Amino acid sequence: MSQTPHFLDGNAAAGELESLFGTDMTQASGRCRGCSAEMVLAQTHAYLGGPGTVLRCPGCEGVLLRLVRSPSRMWLDAGGLAYIQMPVPA
Ligand SMILES: [Zn+2]
Repeated sequence: MSQTPHFLDGNAAAGELESLFGTDMTQASGRCRGCSAEMVLAQTHAYLGGPGTVLRCPGCEGVLLRLVRSPSRMWLDAGGLAYIQMPVPA
């Protein structure tokens, strides 16, 4: 019996993140604060089924980033990332 993973690859969250950062986030990379792994967005594990978007580290499964949107506000917690590197918006 196989177990279906409950996450998508991080590019599934690219559109949501692009609306926040204004640049192509499939080209973004970052470092996990928990295990120091460096990765591009596609390597992260995206959980989109809850009230917001959660990206987890593929190495240690620590939460890298949480993004929650209401009709008028957005909340961003990127505390699991030591840094994010992304292209300068066009
Ligand atoms: Zn990690």
